[in-house]
Order: sequence, then structure tokens, then C-alpha cells
Amino acid sequence: MSDAELLARHRAVLPNWMALYYEEPIQIASASGRRVTDGSGRSYLDFFAGILTNAVGYDIAEISDAVRAQLDTGVLHSSTLYLIRSQIELAERIAGLSGIPDAKVFFTNSGTEANETVLMLATQYRRSDQVLALRNSYHGRAFATVAITGNRGWSASSLSPVKVSYVQGGYQYRSPFRDLSDADYIAACARDLREVIETTTAGDVACMIAEPIQGVGGFSSPPDGYFAAIKEVLDEYGILFVSDEVQTGWGRIGEHFWGIQAHGVTPDAMTFAKGLGNGLAIGGVVARPDLMDCLTANSLSTFGGNPVSTAGALATLEYLLDHDLQANAAKLGERLIDGLRTLAPAHPIVGDVRGKGLMIGVELVEPGGTEPSPRAAVALLEATRSRGLLVGKGGLYGNVIRLAPPMSLTEDEAEEALGILAESIAAVDAEVR
Ligand code: PLP
Repeated sequence: MSDAELLARHRAVLPNWMALYYEEPIQIASASGRRVTDGSGRSYLDFFAGILTNAVGYDIAEISDAVRAQLDTGVLHSSTLYLIRSQIELAERIAGLSGIPDAKVFFTNSGTEANETVLMLATQYRRSDQVLALRNSYHGRAFATVAITGNRGWSASSLSPVKVSYVQGGYQYRSPFRDLSDADYIAACARDLREVIETTTAGDVACMIAEPIQGVGGFSSPPDGYFAAIKEVLDEYGILFVSDEVQTGWGRIGEHFWGIQAHGVTPDAMTFAKGLGNGLAIGGVVARPDLMDCLTANSLSTFGGNPVSTAGALATLEYLLDHDLQANAAKLGERLIDGLRTLAPAHPIVGDVRGKGLMIGVELVEPGGTEPSPRAAVALLEATRSRGLLVGKGGLYGNVIRLAPPMSLTEDEAEEALGILAESIAAVDAEVR
């Protein structure tokens, strides 16, 4: 079936608000390594890894075999009322990797549910419905997670089950503190946090939730050390701290396994999803045991932590640790950022190149200034696609190109992508001038 025919059927039965990429959206018909093939047989290098869902590459035998072995047992009831060995083993691995003492893990099917769960835990634990979040954040698409999403383009509802106040986070490029040094920026943000707590809340805030690097927000991150200063203020007020690692976990940022570790902070809880299942639906919360166990009513997730997803996730985690993909993400991320920074000065549409490991953002601006240029981002998305490279788009103004390939990327593929990006940026630069 052609992509055009599928698109017509998609439009007829799926909601208008479901975001699609490209003027003529494609289907991914098959995939292998870091490459995907569309409905007409055209192959692309995938530099968005699904949506950072493919952590270690496509068509990995070890993962397919683990899933197949689970299917071969015939146990497809997906009820978590029974003991599930792969669920327990995965929880043990994640608790051990979390750095949170005596951590406990609860599995969900998505990042949204993970964040809904952690909000329920924190508000119950503190008996407060007040939450702090960062401006330009994205935490999911259910009722409470939409409410703590500080990005109008993704805030699907204006109603809220929690009271939320927003503080200044990682998006320094367009902040009132833009020209400050790292140390001064961190101090200004800590002051902002204190003022928000003192002036916009009743003081009894349950938790602060933050992405160490904002994903949908355009891969912007505060200077290292920011969250240490923030945590000091939170501790003073007895406010819990949750790191949303849905995009930043599993070594993707290179130097550290979790995004928050760049700041030398141990959070009270972390939420995760996306890359863990290498495409299978799985998410969860890892938390301090007293926080995790603060609920007294029964609760479970019918599908969260099911045998198939946890078997696949366990194989994914082992694959990425065995192949040291974190080190690969660090090395090739540095090469990509260097390459992009080298070509940026020749192109006035490139306002900022930023990121860590294989989470790299290119913020596009109108030539001659810093005004956001969503039109350049759309043009660049199409230009790279026509040259065989799929990238992501994001940012508060839809003007950031996001690069996040599977962490098994090779050096040759990194050079290939840089070549395509250089050509595409030059073409778009000429087009929008
Ligand atoms: N948190 C972050 C940081 C995300 O980027 C996302 C999704 O993009 C979510 C939560 C929600 O995850 P999901 O789409 O799996 O519900």
C-alpha cells in the first residue's frame, strides 16, 4: 500500500492533533542497524531513533531472541498479578543502576504513566497538590502530566489536577539570564526558584520534576551543577526531587548513565521509558523505598511490566551495557557536535548547537538575528529527508532540529550524517535568506 493511500486513511480515522512529520509522511516498512526503509523501498539513516525509542539499533538478534523465547512459553496473559521473573530481574538491574539507595521500581507502559505515577506518589507522600516544573518542559499527555508541561504547543488541556509553578531551567539561549556566566546563571536560577516557592506557592510543595536535558523542548540543558544548586533549595523546604529520564537515561548523554548524574545529584525518584524497550512499550519509576511504598490502597498496571516487554527490555539493557554504547555515544556525540559547530559560523540560520552525547540540538534562527525560525526547521527536515537522513524537530517555537540516532551509531554513519547536514543547512540557508 502506498504512503499516500495510508495517509488518507490515517487522516480519516486518527485524530487531527496527532503530530506527523513531513509534508508527505512516510511509513517505516522495515529497519536494520541504524537504517529504516519506507513504503516505496527508499532507505534512510535514522537520526531520531523512532523518538529516541530505539536505543541500540534495529533488528538486534539478542533482543528479538529474548522476546521470541518469551512468546514461545505461550504466556501472553499480560497480567501482573503473578510473579514474573523478567520483571523482577529488570527491576533489580534498574534499582542497582539508579544510585538511589535501596531503590524500588514500578513498571508502566509509557513515560506519561511513569510521570503520572510519580506525581501520585509525591503528592500522597507530602499530602500536597503543589508541584514545581521547568518552563519549556514536556512530561506526557495525560491529565496531570499535561498540567506540568510548560510548553504551550504540547499543553493539550488548560485544566489541572495539581497546582503547578514553573521555574527557570535549561533554556538559557532564550532566557532573561542569557548572557550570564554558568556560575551566575545557576545562582540566578536558584534565586528564581526560591522566589517562586515563596511567592507563588503555599510553601508545602510536594515535588519538583525536571528533565536534565529538555527533550521536546529542543535538547536544551542547564550548565552542569545547576541541579545541585536547585536541590539545595528544595532540601531546605523539604521538597522531593524527581528527574524525568525518559529521554536522557540509559547512557544516551555519553558521559553519564542518567542525565541527572552530570549534576552530582541523587534524586528521590526517576522516571524512565523510551529507549529501555528498544521500541517495546515500557516505562517506569525508580524511587526511594519509603516514597514508592507510601501508597496504602491496592494498585497495579495490567500491562506495565508484562513478560514480553520486560524480557525485551532486559535484553536491551544487557546489550547496551555489554557493548559499552554509552562510551560510543560520548565519542560520536563529541564528533557530531564539533562538526556542527565548525560549519555553523558560515550559516546565519544556525543560532545554537548544543547537547550531550547523542542528544544534539541545532536551534535555527532568522538570518541576521536570533528570532526563532520554524520555517527553516521545516525546510531542513525536508532537505535532510530528501538526502536520506531522518532527524527530529522540537523546541518551544518548533525551530530546533534534534539529532538522536541509536547509540550503536558507527563512525562512518556519523560522517555520512554530517555530510548530509552540511549540504542541507547550506541549501536551507540559501533558501530562507
Ligand atoms: N517525559 C519526557 C521527557 C518525554 O520526552 C516524553 C515523551 O516524549 C514523556 C515523558 C512521555 O512519554 P510517553 O510518550 O511514552 O508517554
